[in-house]
Amino acid sequence: LTVSDLVEESYKRIGQVEDKVQAFLTLDEERARATAKSLDEKLNTGDSKGLLFGMPIGVKDNIVTKGLRTTCASKILENFDPIYDATVVQKLHQAETVTIGKLNMDEFAMGSSNENSHYQKTRNPWNLERVPGGSSGGSAASVAAGEVLFSLGSDTGGSIRQPASFCGVVGMKPTYGRVSRFGLVAFASSLDQIGPITRTVEDNAFLLQAITGLDPMDSTSANVDVPNFAASLTGDIKGLKIAVPKEYLGEGVTDAVRQSVMDSLKILESLGAVWEEVSLPHSKYALATYYLLSSSEASANLARFDGVRYGYRTPDAESLIELYKKTRAEGFGDEVKRRIMLGTFALSSGYYDAYYKKAQQARTLIKKDFEDVFANYDVIVGPTTPTPAFKIGENIDDPLTMYINDILTIPVNLAGVPGISIPCGFDAGLPLGLQIIGKHFDEATIYRVAHAFE
Ligand code: GLN
Repeated sequence: LTVSDLVEESYKRIGQVEDKVQAFLTLDEERARATAKSLDEKLNTGDSKGLLFGMPIGVKDNIVTKGLRTTCASKILENFDPIYDATVVQKLHQAETVTIGKLNMDEFAMGSSNENSHYQKTRNPWNLERVPGGSSGGSAASVAAGEVLFSLGSDTGGSIRQPASFCGVVGMKPTYGRVSRFGLVAFASSLDQIGPITRTVEDNAFLLQAITGLDPMDSTSANVDVPNFAASLTGDIKGLKIAVPKEYLGEGVTDAVRQSVMDSLKILESLGAVWEEVSLPHSKYALATYYLLSSSEASANLARFDGVRYGYRTPDAESLIELYKKTRAEGFGDEVKRRIMLGTFALSSGYYDAYYKKAQQARTLIKKDFEDVFANYDVIVGPTTPTPAFKIGENIDDPLTMYINDILTIPVNLAGVPGISIPCGFDAGLPLGLQIIGKHFDEATIYRVAHAFE
């Protein structure tokens, strides 16, 4: 088997299913074939040293790729051709993967269904009438549909784990600081993390290994030891202490979801782990806290899209102010505008103390909830989402119902801890996800627990 064979297989599969799944915004066929060829030469000379040598991979379209259109699924970046690679993309090159193309998402990663993409609606490969989740919906759907073996997503409030759950694949949001954000188009900088989406836990551990590490280009990337994640896949979880937050199995969680978590806990118990119910008492503030903080940060981060520096520019402006206004009015979609307005309001003088500052205080309490539990337990386990994938169009006119989708994933970003979603059952043919949350920089234990199911 050559790398070229693998890459051809990937494009062949894309040719077969992409008109239904619609996961890709841009394909990079010519370059992928050239890369495959040069890797095949290395194969012949025995120089194939990369950790993920020859593996076809898809990249979410908010991660910049040199010379390869990067749109964030927004009209405002429809012609944006980055002049550099994100650090994770450079690391993928070092690991000798082959980039197949760029993946659809909710515009600027704001959403839970991919319906906020300016370009297309990605569908759930398990049921084409259902959403794939979001915002990394293209990343999860492309792996689930077998178009690529690996993909990268980003997770600000659940955008890797929720689509992984909806599409029946494995998605990890690493600890804040574990993976460089240099070259990730910022949504909410204090919450965003890039992470791997794969079919298996083992693949996931390898992909995280490849993209992780301290980066001088990102001052929030952490100077911590990087363990060998694959070495933690021992299958041994004897004596492991699991906390199950009662808030994660309460109202709004369907019976099938609750049952799948209980079944998973039984399996872990049979392997020697113990579990107890705990409380994360400030969980009820997480959603409001998240939408205030993430929108505030977004309102500042998205100020750079002004029609001058990047992408789309309105064709008919008579003054500079009009250029800004029209470019942004025409270039951003409704959800992005909603967040910018909310964030601008929360940060404005007179309201700052009541909203932004309060939300920061609530964030501290939410983070402390996790610290208290992790003083006595190794991991926290619960569902990834309260329900399986919903129908396309079902929640589109109701932003608040859409926001509730992330109620179980958002606290993890607020606390900065790592979390994974792995497949754990089905409800009427739709995949369900189990969420395993770990201590800061303890992805290894998460992988150990997740691997116990494989
Ligand atoms: N769905 C959440 C939102 O719309 C989370 C998005 C994300 O993690 N990028 O903000």
